[in-house]
Amino acid sequence: MMSKIDLHDYVATVEDYPEPGVSFRDISPLMGDGKAYKEAIDQIVDFAKDLDVDLIAGPESRGFIVGSPLAYALGIGFVPARKSGKLPREAVSASYTLEYGGVNELEIHKDAIRPGQRVLIVDDLLATGGTINATRKIVEELGGVVAGVAFIIELEDLHGREKIMEAGEVPFVALMEY
Ligand code: 5GP
Repeated sequence: MMSKIDLHDYVATVEDYPEPGVSFRDISPLMGDGKAYKEAIDQIVDFAKDLDVDLIAGPESRGFIVGSPLAYALGIGFVPARKSGKLPREAVSASYTLEYGGVNELEIHKDAIRPGQRVLIVDDLLATGGTINATRKIVEELGGVVAGVAFIIELEDLHGREKIMEAGEVPFVALMEY
């Protein structure tokens, strides 16, 4: 059955943000609308249901907004990949280059993933792939198996999907492409 909601209607495009020449895709309207938010999460649940997923992992901070309701819907746990310095216990980290320059670091608690657990990694948007590949690196270092990756939006011109697949083919979904 076709969905009655077009998720594109809930993405605000902000020109020249955060710097000149960049079109920022703002998903705040989608998150702020109960039907659209539910539709987006339901579509990812559909993708996830045959992947035998044990855990959801998502990078700070919009990955939490996608990942937490997904984990709840699937009845499984959520593992946050936090920006460095925020986790209280022993953690494994990976750094990556940001789309608009600079370096960032993500961390996951060492005991958050057990070897062999199947992890679905999610974020709001895939740009260059740096964020998701850093998250993936940590998940795999902890012995997790990447069951798939899911995004609300993929920015096709930045070829993030290819970067992900270079690190090893995994099931992929993006609900919208720009
Ligand atoms: P990447 O690491 O793939 O280059 O960048 C993706 C990360 O940056 C995601 O965590 C995402 O939240 C953020 N990001 C980059 N560009 C945009 C954008 O246009 N809109 C939104 N909502 N997030 C973006």
